[in-house]
Amino acid sequence: MSTLVIKDLHVSIEDKEILKGLNLTINTNEVHAIMGPNGTGKSTLASAIMGHPKYEVTQGTIEIDGENVLEMEVDERAKAGLFLAMQYPSEISGVTNADFVRSAINARREEGDEISLMKFIRELDKTMDFLEMDQEMAQRYLNEGFSGGEKKRNEILQLMMIKPKFAILDEIDSGLDIDALKVVAKGINEMRGEGFGCIAITHYQRLLNYITPDHVHVMMQGRVVKSGGPELAQRLEAEGYDWIKQELGIED
Ligand code: ADP
Ligand code: MG
Ligand code: MG
Repeated sequence: MSTLVIKDLHVSIEDKEILKGLNLTINTNEVHAIMGPNGTGKSTLASAIMGHPKYEVTQGTIEIDGENVLEMEVDERAKAGLFLAMQYPSEISGVTNADFVRSAINARREEGDEISLMKFIRELDKTMDFLEMDQEMAQRYLNEGFSGGEKKRNEILQLMMIKPKFAILDEIDSGLDIDALKVVAKGINEMRGEGFGCIAITHYQRLLNYITPDHVHVMMQGRVVKSGGPELAQRLEAEGYDWIKQELGIED
């Protein structure tokens, strides 16, 4: 089992403090949903975990199994088993999807232990079938001309191929039609198990109808202010966030 522990995390962007003492612990074999109003720092949390240079950690710790993540470069974080699926996946010219996934897999392996081309292709074919993706997608340039749904499906393909310890999925459900949403959920559910933990950031209960989270957290004003089980997400869907604000005496 692996554990990702975030303690008292403070993060600033251009000297403005966005995260103000966030605590969160995730084990492999668990899916955690993070919900919360717009602008509360959910994407900031994802970016800080992955080491985006714009996000300055001013206080607190992030550790995987006791290893200090904050001291790691971005590629070292990936090697340590972290995976980020972005709210706005970027296009990278001149790199095919297949090349990108293969180099991401090999970047996590020791030299001399790279995945063989045959094995890679077999696994890629199988996973693309599972995700109901057109084989032609493998040879297309990364995210170039992909529809919103194709990008998200593609991120799940990367996830299933790279097999990280922890995935942070930032609004993986945004802009998806119901069929694409089901495929995305199918991929994440397939990954669930001993070696894999997941943080799914979402605005909507909708995703959680297909991926039942083990834990649900509400973020407000740069902190996790409430945690519970799947029933918490259902209550938020029905009642919004006002009752939490009242309960905690938070003002807008
Ligand atoms: P959420 O994902 O919960 O909607 P964000 O983490 O995107 O919230 O944003 C939190 C706050 O940080 C917002 O006030 C937003 O305007 C600000 N912010 C986010 N990213 C940047 C950035 N790159 N530069 C400046 N301000 C930012
Ligand atoms: Mg638990
Ligand atoms: Mg966001």
